[in-house]
Amino acid sequence: MQEENKNREFDVLVIGGGIAGQESSLNLANMGLEVLLVEKDYSIGGKMIHLSKVFPTLDCSACIATPKISETARHPNITIFTYSEVKDIEKSGKKYIARVIKKPRYVKEELCSGCQECEFVCPVYVPDQYQYDLVGRKAVYVPFSLANPRVAAIDIDNCILCGACEKVCPTEAIDFTMEAEEIEIRFKAVIIATGFNLFDAHNKPQYGFGKFKNVVHSMQMERQLVPTRPFNAVLRPSDGKMPDNIAYVLCTGSRDKSVGNPLCSQVCCMYSIKQAQLLMGALPLADVTIYYINIRAFGKGFCEFYQQSKTMGVEFVKGKVAQITETENDNLIVRYEDIFEGKVKEAEHDLVVLAVGALPNPDVPDMFKNEKVELGEFKYVKQVDRFACPARTSMEGVFVSGTAAVPLDIPDSILSAGAASSEVNSYIKKLGI
Ligand SMILES: Cc1cc2nc3c(=O)[nH]c(=O)nc-3n(C[C@H](O)[C@H](O)[C@H](O)COP(=O)(O)OP(=O)(O)OC[C@H]3O[C@@H](n4cnc5c(N)ncnc54)[C@H](O)[C@@H]3O)c2cc1C
Repeated sequence: MQEENKNREFDVLVIGGGIAGQESSLNLANMGLEVLLVEKDYSIGGKMIHLSKVFPTLDCSACIATPKISETARHPNITIFTYSEVKDIEKSGKKYIARVIKKPRYVKEELCSGCQECEFVCPVYVPDQYQYDLVGRKAVYVPFSLANPRVAAIDIDNCILCGACEKVCPTEAIDFTMEAEEIEIRFKAVIIATGFNLFDAHNKPQYGFGKFKNVVHSMQMERQLVPTRPFNAVLRPSDGKMPDNIAYVLCTGSRDKSVGNPLCSQVCCMYSIKQAQLLMGALPLADVTIYYINIRAFGKGFCEFYQQSKTMGVEFVKGKVAQITETENDNLIVRYEDIFEGKVKEAEHDLVVLAVGALPNPDVPDMFKNEKVELGEFKYVKQVDRFACPARTSMEGVFVSGTAAVPLDIPDSILSAGAASSEVNSYIKKLGI
């Protein structure tokens, strides 16, 4: 370990740079505390930066997220390590010590101007994870247009080491000799803001995701509806035609014991209604049908938003979808139980969107070396007193914010980040060091 990487001191370590991690960091930094924000992806922003609009106001998600991202990135009390992971955390007296691994992006951050010259000459194409595999990207790439830092990275597993990027880089930022760096951090408190994982739709094989081209998941539909979308219009993958009869299958991977997740994901009903309304604008002649178990429209303005979608012409069918099959022309047959009529029925659609739910992020328990932070019944970080102090975990000095604790929408993630930062502030004051 290099000398300058040993014993670096911060007041708080925040793990995860989604909306909850950013909000926690900003609150603490504005209280005068020194924060280290560790993000495992190339950019901070979490899932929110990839969303189209937000329910129920239909405000542009990126227009809310980007000022927050810039404020976090520029705050003098916040240091950010992107493409980094916490290897382990252990208690040392009243403080904690963590070892953080900064992985090599093979591009010098301080030199890269984000000009993308490297990207234009790279001959390799692989699926773009930031567009949820709808289109391709190069092996050297700026992750996405709103990335912060807006710096290229080389996906070394797919790079053919042809050196084309190195030759064109105007600032000589490409460095194939870069290695992982280990940095030792001391801090007084930690906030876990590692968010949630999306349910992998392959794990519900009866819905045909990955087998039938016109079965997509809801994050793929979000990407088709954002201003930075991969195509000019919403298209169905099999033939690039605009769909005109779209189905949403709610509770894909949520409230479903057969996939090991009985929990409601809190956001799928509302984001599906949001997407249905946006589709009505993008494809005015299309029919949209939502298959649901119950519509959970529990927040401020949610029920009105749901009613509005009905007046716009979205059809709601109360029935659990059992199976999806494909016709010869790549349309889909949805087999479902119509609960009101008590009958099993079938309907044909030309595009099916699976409203995938939230799953706990499994990274958390492995971070702690001696004492493990406890998980709750559904494997999210356990809130020891959910009602009185929702940010507190089983470990002293370890707090949780956002969807690392429970599935939440954006406003509730921001509220929970507020709770976590004020708990941390009083904890540090009490520590008296
Ligand atoms: C399709 C879809 C549409 C949605 N639409 C809406 C909407 O319209 N309105 C709304 O209110 N909500 C919506 N949501 C919910 C919204 O995405 C969440 O409320 C929000 O993203 C939660 O923020 P978070 O910071 O808790 O988690 P995340 O956004 O998941 O951020 C977690 C961050 O932690 C990082 N991380 C993970 N593990 C580690 C690790 N080990 N070390 C370091 N960093 C790590 C991740 O890379 C990520 O940057 C939608 C969700 C989906 C799936």
